Amino acid sequence: MDGTLRGVVAVDGPSGTGKSTTARGLAMRLDARYLDTGAMYRAVTLAVLRAGVPVDVAATAADGHDEVVAVALGARLDVSTDPAEPRVRLDGDDVDAEIRGSEVTAAVSAVSALTAVRARLVEMQRRIVRAALDDGAGIVVEGRDIGTVVAPDAGLKVFLTASELVRAGRRDAENTAAGRRGAPDTRADLVRRDTLDSSRAASPLRPAHDAVEVDTSTLDIDGVLARLQHLAEDREMVTGLADVGVGTTGG
Ligand code: C5P
Repeated sequence: MDGTLRGVVAVDGPSGTGKSTTARGLAMRLDARYLDTGAMYRAVTLAVLRAGVPVDVAATAADGHDEVVAVALGARLDVSTDPAEPRVRLDGDDVDAEIRGSEVTAAVSAVSALTAVRARLVEMQRRIVRAALDDGAGIVVEGRDIGTVVAPDAGLKVFLTASELVRAGRRDAENTAAGRRGAPDTRADLVRRDTLDSSRAASPLRPAHDAVEVDTSTLDIDGVLARLQHLAEDREMVTGLADVGVGTTGG
């Protein structure tokens, strides 16, 4: 038996390090909720694009861009934290496929750099985390600033890394599997997005001082999940583990 998670696990890191697969998988294993904060930034970016507001995709400014901010703040988001069916709705529409498309991917880092946009989404994210804890549930939250800003008190903070080549390969495989054609040059796009996310003024991508770095370059998903589960168990965040009888042999 894998047990049940108590408390918050923060999973941060750049694109293509396996955050979504790992965070969602851990939540499934440990009967916890799952929050994909990147999907929220993607959904407000889609709202901006749908409104026809131009986005300077290379911008890392924390302020300005009043029209972008106005649309992003007005967008209605509904977020499901069920790891079996994580969904973000934008103004009532299921936008799961659209938010992974190349247009949103190109614009999302610029929209996420805006302080007002972050303030709104961080507030929503903290509310979702609090609701889970109030219900006695555990929650695995993935993003770029979870350990540093959204949930600095998380019982376990993990910062995933992987080589650029491995990350680009994973993104290519995802795009192919999802039938997304015409995706931008994946490797160049990853580097561009990571540079924007790491260099922005408002909560840049960086590991929390107490985060555990896990390099996923040579690990498969089961390997990463096992590592994270051990880290959570070491911190006594997993309850209901089956006792392993001393001296018994498997059969
Ligand atoms: O994780 P994903 O690749 O879907 O995230 C999309 C973008 O959303 C990131 O490149 C980043 O610009 C932004 N993001 C963020 N803070 C988070 C999660 C995502 O700025 N907590």
